[in-house]
Amino acid sequence: MPQYYIKDDHEAIIPKDLFRRVQEERKRRRAGVKVPCGKTRHYNKRTCFSLKVFCGRCGDIYHRVAYNYSDEHGQVVKWLCITGHDHDLVTCHGRPISERRLKEVCLAAFNQIIKPNKAFRAKLQRNISHAINQVNEEKATQLDRELDRLQILLVNQSPHSESYEKIANEFAKNQQQRDELQTIHDQQTEEIEKIVNLQKFIDSNSKQLNEFDEHLVRQLIKKITIQETYCDVEFQNGDSLKVNL
Ligand SMILES: [Zn+2]
Repeated sequence: MPQYYIKDDHEAIIPKDLFRRVQEERKRRRAGVKVPCGKTRHYNKRTCFSLKVFCGRCGDIYHRVAYNYSDEHGQVVKWLCITGHDHDLVTCHGRPISERRLKEVCLAAFNQIIKPNKAFRAKLQRNISHAINQVNEEKATQLDRELDRLQILLVNQSPHSESYEKIANEFAKNQQQRDELQTIHDQQTEEIEKIVNLQKFIDSNSKQLNEFDEHLVRQLIKKITIQETYCDVEFQNGDSLKVNL
């Protein structure tokens, strides 16, 4: 079935912001992640930890396994290094972690950054100004002006003239540069948005959190690496911290 990309046509149905976030998440899942053994891992189950938990030993992803017990334990959910379950690869002894523990790790990580953590906040501010500095508004305006000028020139040329082709080529070249600039701009907007989300989170939580919230994991955490005695929790702005196991 053919797919059509209709730019800016979804605003009426859902907010543009949300639409972009959903698209981003879909893109992330479709693309999967490349792991050190050369494979690309995909994950279809929609949990907030999918494609975010990694093995500190071999670098591969962790996957979710549910064990059903008939006694008082009921169901126990664990996350394990996928290499240990992949038959054509050597077994990895990366430390398994229960989902309950994983949630506690996230909660602890969130509480570490909302403690009166001035250093983390200052870092976020620096991240934002760095991202903003990269946005080249001036160049974009210049290109827009040039495109307008060339367009007017084109309208006044005979399509069969030699100069028409020359101007058309020039127009295409400028248009491509403008598109590239737009892509960079969009990526940076995404980056800034992630950092602003972190900042908002810190600003709106002065007290310690008591309950795990999977939305926060989806929004703020980029990666969790399981080591022997601790976890490395990386936030969306690239900063990370350790939580002991
Ligand atoms: Zn492993």
